[in-house]
Amino acid sequence: MTSSPFDSWIRSDEEMSALLKAEWTRQTTTLQLIASENFASPAVMAATGSILTNKYAEGYPGRRYYGGNQVVDEIEDIARRRLTALFGADHANVQPHAGANANVAVYTALLNPGDTVLAMRLDQGGHLTHGSPASLTSTFWNFVSYGLTPRNDDSENPGEIIDLDHVREMALQHRPKMIVAGASAYSRKIDAAPFREIADEVGALLMFDSAHVAGLIAGGVHPNPVPYADVVTFTTHKTLRGPRGAAILCREEHAKKIDSAVFPGQQGGPLEHAIAAKAVAFREAAQPSFAEYSQQVVTNSYAFSDALTERGFRLVSGGTENHMALLDLRNFDEDLTGKEAQEVLDRAGITANRNAIPDDPRSVFVTSGLRVGTAAQTTAGMGENEFVRIADLMVRALRGRHDETIISEVRDEVREFCGQFNPYRNFTEI
Ligand SMILES: *Cc1c(COP(=O)(O)O)cnc(C)c1O
Repeated sequence: MTSSPFDSWIRSDEEMSALLKAEWTRQTTTLQLIASENFASPAVMAATGSILTNKYAEGYPGRRYYGGNQVVDEIEDIARRRLTALFGADHANVQPHAGANANVAVYTALLNPGDTVLAMRLDQGGHLTHGSPASLTSTFWNFVSYGLTPRNDDSENPGEIIDLDHVREMALQHRPKMIVAGASAYSRKIDAAPFREIADEVGALLMFDSAHVAGLIAGGVHPNPVPYADVVTFTTHKTLRGPRGAAILCREEHAKKIDSAVFPGQQGGPLEHAIAAKAVAFREAAQPSFAEYSQQVVTNSYAFSDALTERGFRLVSGGTENHMALLDLRNFDEDLTGKEAQEVLDRAGITANRNAIPDDPRSVFVTSGLRVGTAAQTTAGMGENEFVRIADLMVRALRGRHDETIISEVRDEVREFCGQFNPYRNFTEI
C-alpha cells in the first residue's frame, strides 16, 4: 500500500489512525461515482482540520455572544463576501451545518407552520427536505408536489423532464406560500426563470435548492438562479467541492429573518473551521480553473452517458446536462436491481448508489435505478476516455456478477486505473 499524507495523523490513537488510513486507501483505489461526492482540495481539508474548531462564536460578525472573536469575525466576513461575489447575491449566511439544516432554516424563516409549499416529489428526483413523509418538513408544513412529464420512447423528445405545466396547475390549485425548485436525482438543467413566473402569478416565494449544481452554477455552465429566487440554498461539498456544509443566499429583504432562523432559531455555535474551509472553497470556485473544471464535469457526463446508453442502459430523462445520470437498469438486465448493482459494483471497486427511478415498481430499498456522477473523478483528472473506460468496467462487473474471478479482475484493473488518477498526488501544495 502506498503511504498516505495522513500517515502521521492521530498517532496517539492507533485505532482511529488505522481507520483513516483505510479510508484514504478506499478513496484513492476505488472509483467514486456518487453524484453528491467530490474530492475537496488539501487547502479545504487543512482549514477543516484547523484550530478554529476550538472557538465558540454564537451570533454573527460584530454581534457575537462571546469574546475573542476578532479573528473569527474576519474569517466569517471573508466567507460571506466571497460567496455573495461568486453568485452576485445580496446576502449570504454561511453557518448552516448541512443542506437539510439550510432548507429547514429557510422554511422557518419565511413560512408559518401549516403553510403550503409546492416542491418536487422525492420519487421523481426531489429531496427528503422537500416534504417527504419521512422528513420533519412534512410535519410542520403542508407540502404538495409536482413531478416529471411521462416517459416517451422518442429519442428527440424522451420526456421525464420537469413538468412546468403541472407546476403551474398545482400552484393555481393550491396557492402555495412558497415554491421550491431543485432536485437530488435529476440530470437536466433547471432554469429558475419559469418558476419565478409561476411564483409571481400566484404570489408565492421562490426557493431554489441548488445543492447538487452549485459548483456548475459557480463555474458558469448552469444558469444562476440568484436573480430569480428569493432564496437559494446549497451544500458546499457536492459539485462546489468545498467542506461538508451548506450556505444560504437571499435578497436583502429576507436577510434578517434568514439569519435569525439559522441562529438562534435552529443552530447553536457555528462551525468556524468549516466556515474558513467554505471561504477557501469559494475562492477556489472563483478561479478560471474552476470554470474549466465545471465544463469538464459536464463534458465527461455527456461522454459517460453516451457510453452507458451504447452499452444498453436507459437514461432517465433521455440524457444529461449536468454532472449526473440516472440509469434505469431494467433495459440492461431485467433481473438486476439497484441494490444488487450497487453491491456488485462495490465489490469491483466502483462506488455508486441505488436510486429510485420515476414510477419505480421496486421499493426504495431495492429500486430499479443507479445514480452515477462525474464530479469527483473529474477532480482526480479523468477525462472523456476515462469515463468510457469506467462504463466498460461497470458492464464487465455487472455482467460477470455471478463470477468472482471476473469481479476480482475488474477490482484489480480499477485499482491500477485509480493509481494513475490519485486526486491527492499534489497533496503537499496546500
Ligand atoms: C444533498 C441535498 C440536500 C441536503 O444536504 P445535506 O448536507 O446532506 O443535508 C438538500 N437538498 C438537495 C436537493 C440535495 O441534493
